[in-house]
Amino acid sequence: VETIVRGLRRKVAGKRIDSVRVGLKKMAVAPPGLDFATEVTGERIEGVGRRGKYAVIRLKSGRRLAVSLRMTGRLVVLSGSGPYPYAYVELGLSGGVRLIFADVRQFGRMRLVDRREGWDADLGVEPLSGAFTPDRFIAMLSGRTTPVKAFLLDQRRIAGIGNIYACEALWEAGIHPAKPAGSLLKPAARRLHGALGAVLRRAIVLRGSSIDDYVDADGSKGGFQNVLSVYGKEGTSCSRCGGEIVRTVIRGRGTWWCRKHQKLE
Ligand SMILES: [Zn+2]
Repeated sequence: VETIVRGLRRKVAGKRIDSVRVGLKKMAVAPPGLDFATEVTGERIEGVGRRGKYAVIRLKSGRRLAVSLRMTGRLVVLSGSGPYPYAYVELGLSGGVRLIFADVRQFGRMRLVDRREGWDADLGVEPLSGAFTPDRFIAMLSGRTTPVKAFLLDQRRIAGIGNIYACEALWEAGIHPAKPAGSLLKPAARRLHGALGAVLRRAIVLRGSSIDDYVDADGSKGGFQNVLSVYGKEGTSCSRCGGEIVRTVIRGRGTWWCRKHQKLE
């Protein structure tokens, strides 16, 4: 999402929304009693940011379009008028470009939120922000019996860590994913904190991970999937220690880890 947002920002900041086409109502949500297209038409885009896994398009009125892409959503900027596959929301912008929200599986949402609406109140700390210090992370883990992997994915605690990055960070820190979060000793918690930052920054430099359908605002794939150490690698040997990479399921999510250097005890 960070990569998508960076690409979008360059292309749409400052543009006016001249027209809105909603092809699938559930994908463009407005506050109760308001019509999405009517409200958004005529707005100007001030900027584009990110909060957790949401792309956030800031509008001049102070309102926002909070976009969740889920697994297969795409935000793509196109010039010209040709059709785009699964384009369910289309914003016609000044300068003759279109911002298209497409989603094969239709799980994504573009939601218009009021200035005063606390739409992100359920989202936790941003893992790349200065507020996410090692000490804060240690305090957050304290007393938690949740498997540490599930803790990392809980968007109410830390916002924006997905399955790929949780697996990779735990591998890098040498921590078993099923270990109760509160049982991590301070040195391990510090290692994990460092690994989370390193993995996320590396992924951003490589412009994200293109597993499934992800593409950025230019329609390009990311490069992080080519440098994965553990995610999706069951049956291969660990590049660090030669141990076997295995896949288990933790709280319903596929989880990859090294049997040798990510020990439970
Ligand atoms: Zn290993």
